[in-house]
Amino acid sequence: MANATPPVTEADILAALRAVLDPTRRTDVVSAGMISGVAIKDGNVHFAIEVDPSEGAKLEPLRQAAEKAVDRVPGVLSVTAVLTAHRGEPAKPAAAQRPAAPGRGAEGRASGMLQLPGIASIIAVASGKGGVGKSTTAINLAVALAADGLGVGLLDADIYGPSMPRMMGIRGRPESRDGRSLIPMRNHGVSCMSIGFLVEEDTPMIWRGPMVISALNQMLTDVAWGALDVLVVDLPPGTGDAQLTMAQRVPLTGAVIVSTPQDIALLDARKGLNMFRQVDVPVFGIIENMSYFLCPSCGHESHIFGHGGARAEALRLDVEFLGEIPLHMDIRETSDSGRPIVASEPASPHAQAYRRIAQRVWEKASERLTGQTRPPPRIVIQ
Ligand code: ADP
Repeated sequence: MANATPPVTEADILAALRAVLDPTRRTDVVSAGMISGVAIKDGNVHFAIEVDPSEGAKLEPLRQAAEKAVDRVPGVLSVTAVLTAHRGEPAKPAAAQRPAAPGRGAEGRASGMLQLPGIASIIAVASGKGGVGKSTTAINLAVALAADGLGVGLLDADIYGPSMPRMMGIRGRPESRDGRSLIPMRNHGVSCMSIGFLVEEDTPMIWRGPMVISALNQMLTDVAWGALDVLVVDLPPGTGDAQLTMAQRVPLTGAVIVSTPQDIALLDARKGLNMFRQVDVPVFGIIENMSYFLCPSCGHESHIFGHGGARAEALRLDVEFLGEIPLHMDIRETSDSGRPIVASEPASPHAQAYRRIAQRVWEKASERLTGQTRPPPRIVIQ
């Protein structure tokens, strides 16, 4: 990405931030030790302001003042400041967290929202923890949406464990025509971007919170996505600060939560739900993955983990149950070998299950888009 001069230093950023006062402590934000993770790349500056999570909404003006102060530093091209807690706090019930009004958009979400004009809708795929099949689900949903005639992008925001290159069967590196933005890689009718295209899959990646946000910002804004009906975002697992900030800063149309029957019992899915509710992102529903075991030889269904937990939990939490996907070797083999089952075995019952879920998710996204400038495209069912 293009290099702009003059180079900005961390000292310049901190000097500018010394003019910003923390109203509660009556001292400047640098002396108060609130600034962390200053990252500067080609004049684009990212940093975090560490705050008490209960003060988050009240401190939005402080965040904006900090961005403005840094924006005035010569050589700075863009500034992203995020409010972050020292540690990931357990999500609070929606009503207790929802801020009143000032500084928030029509949807009641943070005003520092990224602008992604060519992308009509963004759907996050989340899970309370890793290994539940979130990426497999995100990929098959994206391929299913593309099979319905939509322009689909897929962003692997799971930067700790990027699996998209392998699961989408994409090799090589993205190119850039203008030296500024990357062209997404394409396979199975979907435009894809993943940090895994830029580093080897087995390279250990150690990211601090603000770096995560900065990497995600870049994958959203420095990629030539073109016009998309929907961008499916495979979020990092869990409900920590990175996920919360992502949910705050990206104009999400909605989210779906992937859960296995066991982790429903561990309340992980509920944490995910609360996180989105906290930032006013509608949760389109819960998908139960590895719901039951379908024997490939005799077709017998075994309900090893007490199948049906997600449906009952969804009902209790007043969120839609979007469907269930069995634990099946074909799903594992196809996703791990870069041939998502929706693309490679479209007539199989598993592919049909993903397609039904994708159609329901798109229906819900379309309801949200109604009234916005771009009409939702017609779904062609093949
Ligand atoms: P996550 O993104 O939640 O970490 P993945 O999508 O990477 O999970 O899935 C973890 C492993 O489980 C992968 O090997 C994947 O192929 C496999 N897997 C996911 N869903 C299913 C399923 N329904 N049946 C069988 N294997 C699955």
